[in-house]
Amino acid sequence: MIAENYRDVEENVRKACERSGRDRSEVTLIAVSKTKPVSMIREAVDAGAVDFGENKVQELCEKYEQLPKDLRWHLIGHLQRNKVKYVVGRAVLIHSVDSLRLAEEISKEAVKKDIQASILVEVNVAEEESKFGVKVEDTEELVRKAALLPNIHVQGLMTIAPYVEDPEANRPIFRRLCKLAVDIKMKNIDNVHMDVLSMGMTGDYQVAIEEGATMVRVGTGIFGDRNYTV
Ligand SMILES: *Cc1c(COP(=O)(O)O)cnc(C)c1O
Repeated sequence: MIAENYRDVEENVRKACERSGRDRSEVTLIAVSKTKPVSMIREAVDAGAVDFGENKVQELCEKYEQLPKDLRWHLIGHLQRNKVKYVVGRAVLIHSVDSLRLAEEISKEAVKKDIQASILVEVNVAEEESKFGVKVEDTEELVRKAALLPNIHVQGLMTIAPYVEDPEANRPIFRRLCKLAVDIKMKNIDNVHMDVLSMGMTGDYQVAIEEGATMVRVGTGIFGDRNYTV
Protein backbone atom coordinates (compact mmCIF):
# COMPACT_ATOMS: atom_id res chain seq x y z
CA MET A 1 0.00 0.00 0.00
CA ILE A 2 2.74 2.47 0.94
CA ALA A 3 4.75 1.79 -2.20
CA GLU A 4 1.66 2.37 -4.31
CA ASN A 5 0.72 5.55 -2.42
CA TYR A 6 4.26 6.84 -2.72
CA ARG A 7 4.26 6.26 -6.46
CA ASP A 8 0.89 8.05 -6.81
CA VAL A 9 2.10 11.06 -4.83
CA GLU A 10 5.36 11.10 -6.77
CA GLU A 11 3.38 11.07 -10.01
CA ASN A 12 1.22 13.98 -8.80
CA VAL A 13 4.34 15.92 -7.84
CA ARG A 14 5.79 15.29 -11.28
CA LYS A 15 2.60 16.45 -13.00
CA ALA A 16 2.32 19.59 -10.84
CA CYS A 17 5.92 20.44 -11.74
CA GLU A 18 5.15 19.90 -15.39
CA ARG A 19 2.02 22.10 -15.25
CA SER A 20 3.97 24.92 -13.70
CA GLY A 21 6.98 24.63 -15.99
CA ARG A 22 9.29 23.51 -13.21
CA ASP A 23 11.87 20.77 -13.14
CA ARG A 24 11.03 17.80 -10.91
CA SER A 25 14.38 18.24 -9.17
CA GLU A 26 13.24 21.62 -7.77
CA VAL A 27 10.76 19.97 -5.41
CA THR A 28 11.62 17.70 -2.48
CA LEU A 29 8.93 15.30 -1.39
CA ILE A 30 9.03 14.88 2.39
CA ALA A 31 7.24 11.79 3.66
CA VAL A 32 5.68 12.80 6.98
CA SER A 33 6.04 9.68 9.11
CA LYS A 34 4.84 11.01 12.48
CA THR A 35 3.01 8.37 14.56
CA LYS A 36 3.98 5.70 12.01
CA PRO A 37 6.26 2.75 12.88
CA VAL A 38 9.76 2.16 11.56
CA SER A 39 8.48 -0.80 9.51
CA MET A 40 6.32 1.54 7.45
CA ILE A 41 9.18 3.96 6.99
CA ARG A 42 11.28 1.09 5.61
CA GLU A 43 8.53 0.39 3.09
CA ALA A 44 8.62 4.03 2.01
CA VAL A 45 12.42 3.86 1.73
CA ASP A 46 12.08 0.81 -0.52
CA ALA A 47 9.66 2.83 -2.67
CA GLY A 48 12.26 5.55 -3.04
CA ALA A 49 11.66 7.97 -0.14
CA VAL A 50 14.73 9.66 1.33
CA ASP A 51 13.32 12.68 3.18
CA PHE A 52 11.15 12.16 6.26
CA GLY A 53 9.29 14.64 8.42
CA GLU A 54 8.55 14.32 12.13
CA ASN A 55 6.84 16.78 14.43
CA LYS A 56 8.10 15.45 17.76
CA VAL A 57 11.73 15.53 18.80
CA GLN A 58 11.71 12.28 20.74
CA GLU A 59 10.08 10.38 17.90
CA LEU A 60 12.55 11.81 15.40
CA CYS A 61 15.47 10.73 17.60
CA GLU A 62 14.14 7.20 18.11
CA LYS A 63 13.59 6.69 14.39
CA TYR A 64 16.93 8.29 13.55
CA GLU A 65 18.69 5.69 15.72
CA GLN A 66 16.85 2.76 14.20
CA LEU A 67 17.12 3.58 10.52
CA PRO A 68 19.96 3.93 8.00
CA LYS A 69 21.99 7.10 8.42
CA ASP A 70 21.54 8.21 4.80
CA LEU A 71 17.91 9.18 5.40
CA ARG A 72 17.21 12.88 5.77
CA TRP A 73 15.14 13.96 8.78
CA HIS A 74 13.15 17.18 8.86
CA LEU A 75 11.73 18.62 12.06
CA ILE A 76 8.40 20.11 11.02
CA GLY A 77 6.65 20.54 14.37
CA HIS A 78 6.90 23.11 17.12
CA LEU A 79 10.31 23.00 18.82
CA GLN A 80 10.93 23.83 22.47
CA ARG A 81 14.28 25.32 23.36
CA ASN A 82 15.13 22.60 25.85
CA LYS A 83 14.91 20.00 23.06
CA VAL A 84 17.14 21.80 20.58
CA LYS A 85 20.20 19.81 21.63
CA TYR A 86 18.62 16.55 20.42
CA VAL A 87 17.68 17.92 17.00
CA VAL A 88 20.83 19.78 15.96
CA GLY A 89 23.03 17.21 14.26
CA ARG A 90 20.16 14.84 13.52
CA ALA A 91 17.70 16.89 11.45
CA VAL A 92 19.01 18.24 8.13
CA LEU A 93 16.51 21.09 8.35
CA ILE A 94 14.44 22.62 11.14
CA HIS A 95 11.29 24.00 9.50
CA SER A 96 9.66 25.55 12.54
CA VAL A 97 11.77 28.43 13.82
CA ASP A 98 9.43 31.17 14.98
CA SER A 99 11.38 33.14 17.57
CA LEU A 100 14.81 34.67 17.95
CA ARG A 101 15.29 32.87 21.27
CA LEU A 102 14.81 29.54 19.51
CA ALA A 103 17.21 30.53 16.71
CA GLU A 104 19.77 31.57 19.35
CA GLU A 105 19.50 28.20 21.06
CA ILE A 106 19.96 26.37 17.74
CA SER A 107 22.99 28.53 16.97
CA LYS A 108 24.48 27.90 20.40
CA GLU A 109 24.08 24.15 20.00
CA ALA A 110 25.51 24.17 16.47
CA VAL A 111 28.57 26.10 17.67
CA LYS A 112 29.01 23.65 20.54
CA LYS A 113 28.89 20.68 18.14
CA ASP A 114 30.96 22.55 15.54
CA ILE A 115 28.40 22.00 12.78
CA GLN A 116 26.19 24.21 10.62
CA ALA A 117 22.43 24.24 11.21
CA SER A 118 19.91 24.97 8.46
CA ILE A 119 16.60 26.51 9.41
CA LEU A 120 13.39 27.81 7.92
CA VAL A 121 11.35 30.57 9.51
CA GLU A 122 7.77 29.44 10.09
CA VAL A 123 5.28 32.07 9.01
CA ASN A 124 1.70 32.13 10.21
CA VAL A 125 0.19 33.31 6.95
CA ALA A 126 -3.34 32.13 7.76
CA GLU A 127 -3.34 33.99 11.04
CA GLU A 128 -6.45 32.70 12.72
CA GLU A 129 -5.71 29.00 12.24
CA SER A 130 -2.34 28.31 13.80
CA LYS A 131 -0.83 29.45 17.04
CA PHE A 132 2.75 28.97 15.86
CA GLY A 133 4.77 30.94 13.37
CA VAL A 134 5.63 34.62 13.06
CA LYS A 135 3.37 37.14 11.44
CA VAL A 136 4.04 38.05 7.83
CA GLU A 137 5.04 41.56 8.84
CA ASP A 138 7.52 40.30 11.47
CA THR A 139 9.22 37.74 9.23
CA GLU A 140 11.95 39.90 7.74
CA GLU A 141 13.10 41.09 11.14
CA LEU A 142 13.45 37.54 12.46
CA VAL A 143 15.21 36.43 9.27
CA ARG A 144 17.69 39.32 9.58
CA LYS A 145 18.43 38.67 13.24
CA ALA A 146 18.72 34.89 12.85
CA ALA A 147 21.10 35.34 9.91
CA LEU A 148 23.55 37.17 12.17
CA LEU A 149 23.91 34.20 14.50
CA PRO A 150 26.93 31.92 14.14
CA ASN A 151 26.63 28.44 12.57
CA ILE A 152 23.07 29.01 11.41
CA HIS A 153 21.77 29.33 7.84
CA VAL A 154 18.35 30.68 6.98
CA GLN A 155 17.35 28.67 3.91
CA GLY A 156 13.81 29.94 3.46
CA LEU A 157 10.28 29.96 4.81
CA MET A 158 7.68 27.44 5.90
CA THR A 159 3.94 27.69 6.48
CA ILE A 160 1.15 25.43 7.63
CA ALA A 161 -2.02 26.21 5.72
CA PRO A 162 -5.40 25.41 7.28
CA TYR A 163 -7.21 22.19 6.55
CA VAL A 164 -9.64 22.89 3.72
CA GLU A 165 -11.95 20.80 1.56
CA ASP A 166 -10.98 22.63 -1.60
CA PRO A 167 -7.20 23.00 -2.03
CA GLU A 168 -7.79 26.08 -4.19
CA ALA A 169 -8.79 27.87 -0.98
CA ASN A 170 -5.15 27.72 0.14
CA ARG A 171 -3.69 29.07 -3.08
CA PRO A 172 -3.63 32.69 -1.82
CA ILE A 173 -1.74 31.54 1.29
CA PHE A 174 0.94 29.79 -0.76
CA ARG A 175 1.16 32.75 -3.09
CA ARG A 176 1.61 35.10 -0.13
CA LEU A 177 4.45 33.02 1.34
CA CYS A 178 6.18 32.86 -2.03
CA LYS A 179 5.90 36.61 -2.50
CA LEU A 180 7.26 37.20 0.98
CA ALA A 181 10.28 35.00 0.23
CA VAL A 182 10.90 36.82 -3.06
CA ASP A 183 10.63 40.22 -1.35
CA ILE A 184 13.14 39.20 1.32
CA LYS A 185 15.46 37.58 -1.22
CA MET A 186 15.59 40.82 -3.22
CA LYS A 187 17.10 42.57 -0.21
CA ASN A 188 20.22 40.41 -0.54
CA ILE A 189 20.72 39.95 3.17
CA ASP A 190 24.01 38.26 4.08
CA ASN A 191 23.65 34.58 4.97
CA VAL A 192 19.98 34.53 3.89
CA HIS A 193 19.05 32.29 0.98
CA MET A 194 15.25 32.14 0.66
CA ASP A 195 15.55 29.27 -1.81
CA VAL A 196 13.42 26.86 0.22
CA LEU A 197 9.66 27.17 0.46
CA SER A 198 8.16 24.42 2.62
CA MET A 199 4.42 24.43 2.01
CA GLY A 200 1.67 22.02 1.03
CA MET A 201 0.39 18.84 2.69
CA THR A 202 -1.70 15.87 1.52
CA GLY A 203 -4.76 17.96 0.68
CA ASP A 204 -3.04 20.75 -1.21
CA TYR A 205 0.55 19.93 -2.20
CA GLN A 206 -0.19 20.13 -5.90
CA VAL A 207 -1.48 23.67 -5.57
CA ALA A 208 1.52 24.51 -3.38
CA ILE A 209 3.90 23.29 -6.09
CA GLU A 210 2.09 25.40 -8.66
CA GLU A 211 2.70 28.37 -6.35
CA GLY A 212 6.40 27.70 -5.91
CA ALA A 213 6.83 25.15 -3.11
CA THR A 214 10.28 23.54 -3.10
CA MET A 215 9.37 21.15 -0.27
CA VAL A 216 6.00 19.50 0.23
CA ARG A 217 5.16 17.59 3.40
CA VAL A 218 2.90 14.62 2.70
CA GLY A 219 1.81 12.28 5.50
CA THR A 220 -1.65 10.79 5.03
CA GLY A 221 -1.25 10.56 1.27
CA ILE A 222 1.69 8.18 1.72
CA PHE A 223 1.14 6.41 5.05
CA GLY A 224 -2.65 6.54 5.36
CA ASP A 225 -4.70 8.03 8.19
CA ARG A 226 -3.05 8.62 11.53
CA ASN A 227 -4.57 7.08 14.64
CA TYR A 228 -3.83 9.30 17.60
CA THR A 229 -5.73 7.16 20.09
CA VAL A 230 -3.16 4.34 20.25
C1 LIG B 1 1.28 16.24 10.01
C2 LIG B 1 1.92 17.33 9.25
C3 LIG B 1 1.98 17.28 7.84
C4 LIG B 1 1.37 16.16 7.01
O1 LIG B 1 -0.02 16.25 7.01
P1 LIG B 1 -0.90 15.34 6.02
O2 LIG B 1 -2.16 16.09 5.88
O3 LIG B 1 -1.06 14.03 6.69
O4 LIG B 1 -0.16 15.22 4.75
C5 LIG B 1 2.63 18.31 7.19
N1 LIG B 1 3.18 19.35 7.87
C6 LIG B 1 3.13 19.42 9.21
C7 LIG B 1 3.77 20.57 9.89
C8 LIG B 1 2.51 18.43 9.94
O5 LIG B 1 2.46 18.52 11.28
